[in-house]
Amino acid sequence: LVVVERVQKHYGDFHALKDIDLTVNRGEVVVVIGPSGSGKSTLCRTINRLETITSGTIAIDGVALPSEGRALAALRADVGMVFQSFNLFSHLTILENVTLGPIKVKKQKKAEAEASARRLLDRVGVGAQADKLPAQLSGGQQQRVAIARALAMTPKVMLFDEPTSALDPEMITEVLDVMTSLAHEGMTMIVVTHEMGFARKAADRVVFMADGQIVEQATPDAFFTNPASDRAKDFLSKLI
Ligand code: ATP
Ligand code: MG
Repeated sequence: LVVVERVQKHYGDFHALKDIDLTVNRGEVVVVIGPSGSGKSTLCRTINRLETITSGTIAIDGVALPSEGRALAALRADVGMVFQSFNLFSHLTILENVTLGPIKVKKQKKAEAEASARRLLDRVGVGAQADKLPAQLSGGQQQRVAIARALAMTPKVMLFDEPTSALDPEMITEVLDVMTSLAHEGMTMIVVTHEMGFARKAADRVVFMADGQIVEQATPDAFFTNPASDRAKDFLSKLI
């Protein structure tokens, strides 16, 4: 479903992604881990073209990502993204945050968009908050709204870039639970996270990055019990 081939990314002289090849199949959950600065966020951002690439190709569902224009907007709608910071519009209600994309980009009717937004908000456990403003919600609730907002665009793949790292510990579980149930429902997901419990439980595959490269990939079981590379061994030995 997502095919990344020979992707290079430079920021000026800095080589941030070095010859990345990554294929994510439909329904697969891939957890990306690695040290700070290894290029995990950059990889996510190139997959929905928030960031241009220097060379290589990225295709979503068989269609190569164009660099700009109308086709890009359409393809970007196929890729839902959830960031560390929730990025909700502070002056819009929760319901308006979720319906904005479907109404503006997908040209849905307001009533239809609101009905499906309420279903999604219920599904992530914040249905009762629909008419509040983001600042009236906890961090965990806001992040679940951000997930509902991404799902409202009916994406083919969901990207998560450290979705729980800005949250207080007691709110991490409620967000991971929503992500785990999405994974079990067959959503294709690429998840950058330091939550190794989630990786063990929900990932089909772990991708380990270091220095802008994919150093190894394996099932969570194989990776956590028997990492192949010294970089991965070193990384795992430093986790609590
Ligand atoms: P973290 O775990 O800290 O989030 P990461 O693996 O997500 O790290 P990236 O944010 O992808 O790492 O950054 C990879 C490298 O690219 C870093 O060395 C970073 O300094 C550099 N980099 C990222 N964005 C830019 C930018 N806009 N301009 C220049 N360099 C950048
Ligand atoms: Mg990052």
